[in-house]
Amino acid sequence: MSSSPSTTTAGPGKVLLAAPRGYCAGVDRAVQTVEHALEIHGAPIYVRKEIVHNKHVVDQLTKRGAIFVDQETEVPEGARVVFSAHGVSPKVHENAEARGLKTIDATCPLVTKVHVEARKFASEGYTIILVGHDGHEEVEGTPGEAPDDIVRVETEEDVEGLEVEDPDKVAYITQTTLSVDETTAIIEALKRKFPSMTGPKTDDICYATTNRQQAVKELARECDLILVIGSTNSSNSVRLVEVAREHGAASHLIDFAHEVREEWLDGVETVGITSGASAPEELVSRAGPVLPRPRGHRRRRVEDRRGGRPLHAPDEDPPRHRRAPEHRHRAAGHQLAAGPGANWIEWISTPSVARMRRRCSEWRSPGTSSYSPGPATGISRSGPLSGAMASVPSPPAAA
Ligand code: SF4
Repeated sequence: MSSSPSTTTAGPGKVLLAAPRGYCAGVDRAVQTVEHALEIHGAPIYVRKEIVHNKHVVDQLTKRGAIFVDQETEVPEGARVVFSAHGVSPKVHENAEARGLKTIDATCPLVTKVHVEARKFASEGYTIILVGHDGHEEVEGTPGEAPDDIVRVETEEDVEGLEVEDPDKVAYITQTTLSVDETTAIIEALKRKFPSMTGPKTDDICYATTNRQQAVKELARECDLILVIGSTNSSNSVRLVEVAREHGAASHLIDFAHEVREEWLDGVETVGITSGASAPEELVSRAGPVLPRPRGHRRRRVEDRRGGRPLHAPDEDPPRHRRAPEHRHRAAGHQLAAGPGANWIEWISTPSVARMRRRCSEWRSPGTSSYSPGPATGISRSGPLSGAMASVPSPPAAA
């Protein structure tokens, strides 16, 4: 770990990768929905809102003929429109029907689960408290299921000032991509205020959000700096930065590798890298030119700190019953273990921070254009966008 933040030369340095990280099953499904729609029906395919909150993904789909609009009312009558992973309210479906739109719903099933809970609690006469961030698309869609029965809170302070008609008939639901710790505190505050409050049978914060935050907590124990690959409008990516900072590491959110600033590495010995659920792995593999596996890397076995049981090493097959949908996939040419029971930290390379620092100075030297995105692999793990990474924007020639 770093001893002095002002030191300008990095130590031997190492880079740790969080596992799991990046694309969740819901995002993968949503992106592939647009890709398949383009393949089958041809361009243009309209997409209401960003299909997932990632600049690179949206740019690549736009180049293939997707047209992103803010509202269904902007889609020409009779055209084909995809609804994003964040879900829409029933009113949006009504508007689309009135315009004769052909709709494809890419809402993540875990968001749909929250919509179903909202309808159920409303039908049973509950006032529903939705914990979520103002302005997030998911928090626009969910209240549409029961607009007269849902109130939103975002902080513990909001809870203090909250008044409801019948304090004994209150239920809560949450956005899927919140901070687990913050939300727990808000729910505790709600329970103090409304002791008979009920809630969902299982957490609304999704497994992908929970696991990625847990991995960052583990990473923060060992890292001076954690880079989170993701866009600023990606709720779960922003939460990862917050979690890293809350657990003692400096942290920055970046869309692309060339946004890493050399000064962030001052005094840093260990860098952690992770990515939000809407960021494709290709962006991670370029976050440090270190990430194509260097010679001399070593894997290590880590303990599951929740249960104290040793887990499989990343290059071993996990037990069959642990193979959740995102449990194993190939990324950047190597295997990783992910999902429930994951190894929270993937692998270590020794000379990585120094190498990352070198690349930062190259990027920031006037006239330098030495950045190479490497072999093209596409947005999806197995999707048809091969070649997409060839158009990752070049880094600035000067700072
Ligand atoms: S982050 Fe969670 S809720 Fe959002 S798409 Fe992924 S799995 Fe679904």
